[in-house]
Amino acid sequence: MARCPLYESCAFLKDETFEKMQGLVHRFQQIYCQGNYSGCARYKIASALGESFVPTLMMPNQIEWADQVLLDQQSA
Ligand code: SF4
Repeated sequence: MARCPLYESCAFLKDETFEKMQGLVHRFQQIYCQGNYSGCARYKIASALGESFVPTLMMPNQIEWADQVLLDQQSA
């Protein structure tokens, strides 16, 4: 499986909030970062708007939140 193009820069893998949840982060890494990155909520926003638009605490599976961010930007 391909690795996410944002792997080196993504705050999800670096933020100290997520460092406290290593089990969860590892699982998400396997599912998204090392696999289905196009299904990741963070990737969806970063690829459409840029990494600076990704909410700091967004998890890869929070796709509804990502869709809302994209909608809000379209109507802004
Ligand atoms: S959390 Fe999402 S955007 Fe970040 S490296 Fe993993 S797949 Fe890519």
